[in-house]
Amino acid sequence: MQTIFPPPLRNRPNTGSENLLDELDLNKTTGRRTAPRLTSNFIAMIIVTRPDATEEQIEHIVDRIRSWGLKTEVSRGEMRVVIGVIGPEDKIREKPLGAFPGVESVTPVLKPYKLVAYEFRRTNSHIQIGNVTVGAKEVVVMAGPCSVESEDQITIIAKAVRKSGAKILRGGAFKPRTSPYSFQGLGKIGLQFLAEARRATGMPIITEVMDTKDLELVCEYADCLQIGARNMQNFSLLREVGRTNLPVMLKRGMSATVKDLLMSAEYILSEGNFNVLLCERGIRTFENMTRNTLDLNAVPVLKAETHLPVVVDPTHGIGVREFVPAMALAAVAAGADSIMIEVHNAPEQAKSDGEQALLPTDFEDLVTRVRSVAIAVGREL
Ligand code: PEP
Ligand code: MN
Repeated sequence: MQTIFPPPLRNRPNTGSENLLDELDLNKTTGRRTAPRLTSNFIAMIIVTRPDATEEQIEHIVDRIRSWGLKTEVSRGEMRVVIGVIGPEDKIREKPLGAFPGVESVTPVLKPYKLVAYEFRRTNSHIQIGNVTVGAKEVVVMAGPCSVESEDQITIIAKAVRKSGAKILRGGAFKPRTSPYSFQGLGKIGLQFLAEARRATGMPIITEVMDTKDLELVCEYADCLQIGARNMQNFSLLREVGRTNLPVMLKRGMSATVKDLLMSAEYILSEGNFNVLLCERGIRTFENMTRNTLDLNAVPVLKAETHLPVVVDPTHGIGVREFVPAMALAAVAAGADSIMIEVHNAPEQAKSDGEQALLPTDFEDLVTRVRSVAIAVGREL
C-alpha cells in the first residue's frame, strides 16, 4: 500500500493538473475544470494484473488505454497492481481489455459509488494532509477548538494538543450554527489565526468551508477542507471542492445513511479530487440522553465499502465531555484511521460547543489511552 495521489497544491483551487480525468473537459485557456466529468453513461472497469506482471506490461496497458482516450487510475497493492479504467460505456465495452499480457481479470464496478468503492482500488488510499498521512498504519489524531476565537486561544490550544500527540489542528472560522443568533465564526481573520497557529506549531490545519462563495478564500489557508454534516448533500459545494486538489473531509449528515455518505463522496471524486476522507460524527436517533448517536457500525462498514480513510468525531457524536474519551477509544478499536477531538483551554468561555470540549490535560490522558488501543488493534500512534 502506498500513497498514489500527489500532495495538494496550496492556494490553487480549480487548477488541479495531476488529477484523474483532467483532460476530459479541462478548459485549456483558464485551467478551470468546467462541466462535471462523469455522467450517466460513464462506467468504471477494474483490471487486476497477475502477480508476476512486469512493469513493462503494466506500462503498456496504461499507455494503450490512455491512447484510446480513456482514463486510468493505477493502484499498487502489496501483491498486485489494479488499473481502474473510466470512460463512456460504449467505448470501454468495445475494447479487448482482457487481451493484454499480464492481465488476470477485468470486472466492472457494480456499486453505485464507482470511484469511491473499495474494489476500484483494492487497496486503502493514503491521504496526505500537509506532512501527515491519513489511512496508513498510524492512527492520526486531529484536535482543536470547535471555533477559532482569537489568535491567543487557537495558538495556546494548538501548542497543547501538539505536545500531547495531535498531528492535525482543527478549528472553525465559518461555523454552521443552529441559531442565526449564535456565534457564526470569525471568517477570514479566523483563517489567519489558524495560519498563525500552523506557523507556531508546524501542524497542518483542517477547517470548514460552508459556502462555494468562500471556497477560494478557505483554500488559501486550509490544508484540508471540512464539509460539515449540514452540508453533506450540498451538491454544488461537493462539486466545487471536487475541482480543487485539497484534501476534503466529508462529514456524515445527521440523517444520512452510510450509502448517502458514499454517494456524496462520489460527487467529489467524480470531479477529479480523490483526496477525500469520510467522517462519522453521530446521527439523530430517538435517543436523547446524548447529543447524537455515534454510529460506530459505520466504521467497519465503510472500511469494507471504500478505499477512503475513515475519521470518527466522538465529540459531536456523543456531545458530552465526560463520555467523549470512551467513544474515542471505541472508534479506534472499531478501525478508525483518525479521530477528531474538540479541545478548549477554557470550555466554560467557549463561543461554541464548550460542553463537549476536553480540557488539554484530559486530552493528554486520552491520547495515551488511544495509543494503547491503537497498538492493541495493530496500528500505531
Ligand atoms: C464541527 O466540526 O465543529 C461541526 C460543526 O461539525 P458537524 O458538521 O459534524 O456538526
Ligand atoms: Mn463543534
